[in-house]
Amino acid sequence: MTSATISYTERLTETVPAVRESINDAAHAAGRNVEEVRLVAVTKGHPFEAVDAALAAGLTDLGENRVAEMEEKVAHYGSESVVWHMIGHIQSRKAGRVAEAAAMVHSVDSLKLARKLSRAAEEGSAPLNVLVQMNTSGEEAKYGFAPEEGYDAVLEMSEMTGLNVRGLMTMAPFDDDEGVLGSTFSGLRKLSERLQSASEQVGPELSMGMTNDLDIAIREGSTIVRIGTALFGERDRK
Ligand SMILES: *Cc1c(COP(=O)(O)O)cnc(C)c1O
Repeated sequence: MTSATISYTERLTETVPAVRESINDAAHAAGRNVEEVRLVAVTKGHPFEAVDAALAAGLTDLGENRVAEMEEKVAHYGSESVVWHMIGHIQSRKAGRVAEAAAMVHSVDSLKLARKLSRAAEEGSAPLNVLVQMNTSGEEAKYGFAPEEGYDAVLEMSEMTGLNVRGLMTMAPFDDDEGVLGSTFSGLRKLSERLQSASEQVGPELSMGMTNDLDIAIREGSTIVRIGTALFGERDRK
């Protein structure tokens, strides 16, 4: 064992129970069943040792935000015992590679990308599970559909034969104002409710909540939280 393995392993001994407890507490406070909230451990920016430690700690849903890095990890670990989540912006020319590597794509942020993913998945064995990324915060720098534009786009994607639209995803603004975060997340939930009553082909998943806002996200109905820093520590800044 290298020292890095020991340090990720030791870290997770503390952080996995702590994150699980936060999820538990938030679900409980919201009167929700904790089983409804899935934890995606975001291993982006961390080496294989972090993945080794995550798997040893029983974390099986792992998130990556860069295509090449995901491919390296998928090549090393395979896709039998890990559910790979692509959570970062994808250039549409890389759609084929993503459809191959990921079990679920959270970051579908354009119709062009959706069409390419759908076509790639049609050539493979099964429809690709996707979430449509919404920009509920109105911040310019972020990817994702504005809600009204997104409503139509989700319905269009739900008709694409290579895609299984499981739900929606958003990233909150980096803002510690609980009111802003709460309305970002409740906005996503309301949009999801409207979409589900419009189409049976739109699933109920809500991927929202990161290290800094997971409790608010769970209160507002998150079904998937994407947690990096609270589990693995700070990433190297690029
Ligand atoms: C990096 C990232 C996360 C994890 O963020 P932390 O603050 O480290 O928990 C979640 N979602 C997306 C889309 C990310 O890029």
